[in-house]
Amino acid sequence: MFGDCHIHMVLDGVNWRAAIDHQRRGPDEALIRARLADYARRGVTFLRDGGDAWDVGLTASRLAGAYGIRYRTPCFPICRKGHYGGFIGRCFSDLMEYRAMVHEVREKGGHFIKIMVSGLMDFAQFGVLTDEPCPPDLARDLISIAHDAGFSIMAHANGSEAVSAALACGVDSIEHGAYLNEETLAQLAESGAVWVPTLVTIGNLRGLGRFPDQVLEPLLELQQNNVARAAKLGAKIALGTDAGAYAVCHGAAVEQEYALLKQALGENTDRILTEGEQAIQTRF
Ligand SMILES: [Zn+2]
Repeated sequence: MFGDCHIHMVLDGVNWRAAIDHQRRGPDEALIRARLADYARRGVTFLRDGGDAWDVGLTASRLAGAYGIRYRTPCFPICRKGHYGGFIGRCFSDLMEYRAMVHEVREKGGHFIKIMVSGLMDFAQFGVLTDEPCPPDLARDLISIAHDAGFSIMAHANGSEAVSAALACGVDSIEHGAYLNEETLAQLAESGAVWVPTLVTIGNLRGLGRFPDQVLEPLLELQQNNVARAAKLGAKIALGTDAGAYAVCHGAAVEQEYALLKQALGENTDRILTEGEQAIQTRF
């Protein structure tokens, strides 16, 4: 059974606002234990959290050992003030604040740094992202500061511009990675960074009526084609679901992501995902 290289223990796949409000004043240990037990029942032994500002993932990382799960957390994701990510992470307005946050992750016992360097896919409009990419100079500073502090870096990044800038600075994993062009896919393969495409965040929206299927179907197809192309170029690809995101349920999403990746990767799926997860486990 593959691990899940991208989850959010704080979220429930239903209503992010309510899920966060529920644990805003403190992690719900019983809920976390129930989710960990469910993962363990499914045979999952590795989880990497994308972080939250309320220590839910951090608490899970302390409890997970009892369930036979290796659990890695960045504590909280770090985002630029005024840009995507503030609903779940912590925002900085200058590098001094960013450095202090990196220091805080170390103090709290976080295992790596998670940064947000782009917006989301706009599921209502094909080809559109919800935010402008982080300027390359800033991305370089963010990544080098975290590396200098001895951390690996998981980057939420969509679009060739943001992904290319992050890869050029030696980022360790790319999350989502929507709309990558051929040049960026080749750069990904050369860089040795691991791509976690979280296909199920698109796939599970199909047929719900929340977003148009005329956008979701071609977007999923594009992402699956890019996954296949990246694999051919020799890129590292790992299974991660973004569990907790809308319509992406903890545990069940692992099989769903696997099925979507298998459509893209065919007979090589298990070998590629095993290598990808090993690379994640080594770096994180
Ligand atoms: Zn995420």
